[in-house]
Amino acid sequence: MTLVVTPDVAVVGGGPAGLIAAEVLSAAGLSVAVFERMPTLGRKFLMAGRGGLNLTHSEDFERFVARYGDAAPVLRPMLEAFTPADLVAWAGGLGQAIFVGSSGRVFPTALKASPLLRAWIARLEGQGVALNLRSAWTGWNPAGDLTFDTPDGPRRVRPRATILALGGASWSRLGSDGAWAPWLGARGAAVTPFRPANVGFTVGWTEVFRERFSGSPLKNVALSFEGRTSRGDALAAGYGLEGGAVYALSAALRDAVEARGSATLEIDLRPDIPLAPLTARLSRPRGGQSLSSWLRKAAHLSPVEIGLLREAHGLALPVAPDALAAAIKAAPIVLTGTQGLERAISCAGGLSFEALDGLELKAAPGVFVAGEMLDWEAPTGGYLLQACFATGVAAARQALTVLSAHPGESRDPS
Ligand SMILES: Cc1cc2nc3c(=O)[nH]c(=O)nc-3n(C[C@H](O)[C@H](O)[C@H](O)COP(=O)(O)OP(=O)(O)OC[C@H]3O[C@@H](n4cnc5c(N)ncnc54)[C@H](O)[C@@H]3O)c2cc1C
Repeated sequence: MTLVVTPDVAVVGGGPAGLIAAEVLSAAGLSVAVFERMPTLGRKFLMAGRGGLNLTHSEDFERFVARYGDAAPVLRPMLEAFTPADLVAWAGGLGQAIFVGSSGRVFPTALKASPLLRAWIARLEGQGVALNLRSAWTGWNPAGDLTFDTPDGPRRVRPRATILALGGASWSRLGSDGAWAPWLGARGAAVTPFRPANVGFTVGWTEVFRERFSGSPLKNVALSFEGRTSRGDALAAGYGLEGGAVYALSAALRDAVEARGSATLEIDLRPDIPLAPLTARLSRPRGGQSLSSWLRKAAHLSPVEIGLLREAHGLALPVAPDALAAAIKAAPIVLTGTQGLERAISCAGGLSFEALDGLELKAAPGVFVAGEMLDWEAPTGGYLLQACFATGVAAARQALTVLSAHPGESRDPS
């Protein structure tokens, strides 16, 4: 095996966390080599752009930070050092104008990720970053070199510092499969098992509902679970329920389904109409109309919403206007399972912050970690990418500090 590369810094993983780290380090004048197992960079980033690349969120910073739950205290300084405004300015520097959606979510006007990624790769190449594709990291050899499988055979790399940005374990066909967990575990770095996050849930729909309404959107509903409510859209999938409003509650729902086997989600199908005015609407004379037409006209319920009402309350819906209004405002749907990692937008679990000093591995000085491989989770809304960028920048800045304190010395583990 030949010792091929000795860059100042090896960045392993060519997603947003790794690429921003490579950008910061190369801009500081270090030689940087990125190693990515897939034939192209940023596959999950491109996938994220398929439904509109939600880069970050424009809400108040305190509210923003709180979205990271238990990980908020540890992520806060990194998010303060690379804020949503910094991310927007960065995207602007790559020629990507931004707009803020009505929900406060921030998108590039191009919506897709591809123009941004193209400009970004050109910038990295312009800064001299070596982009090594089809290079799958396989761990460390006994001498402490990083080892890679490449189409040209195995390679060894001995950098002065390493940034690991290997992603989580969802949608593994895009490149991130969590295979690194045992390698870091073997170095004494605790890795919390991966669990799906921002994911759909199984519902035992009746055959009639499934056949008729699979793929139908539930627009502007309010979902409640254990005192928390999320407003937005959901989707009735053949297997159950998915979509942004579901994902916002998915951590608590997943934990409850895991602990108790099921969780009951309450759906308010008309969250903009309080109970009393809805009751008044349903008190008007129905004439000879069927209940479905009546519900469509009086409460503006769509066919899928009427179907869902029957799934929740049974075919014989209440007749009294106040009881019917109450049923529309609180339709209980029992979730009986969580979709797997393969279908999850992100994951919970990963490398524990306790294994780190800042973002440097305690067990392997000179190795820094960034992005979704760290143990934090957040809902959709731009929080995922913002934390990947912020941790990528923080890992790079910490590596810079450490390297400037040890000029010319390799700090990689051996
Ligand atoms: C369908 C979908 C939609 C999404 N939409 C959004 C959105 O709109 N907004 C948002 O904020 N987030 C969104 N996300 C999440 C977001 O894309 C991820 O959180 C983000 O890409 C994670 O960045 P990362 O750099 O940490 O990891 P990744 O993007 O997963 O990159 C890690 C890279 O490491 C490489 N790698 C892994 N193991 C090895 C190895 N052994 N050797 C070499 N390379 C390796 C992988 O191939 C991968 O390219 C979405 C995700 C999905 C799946």
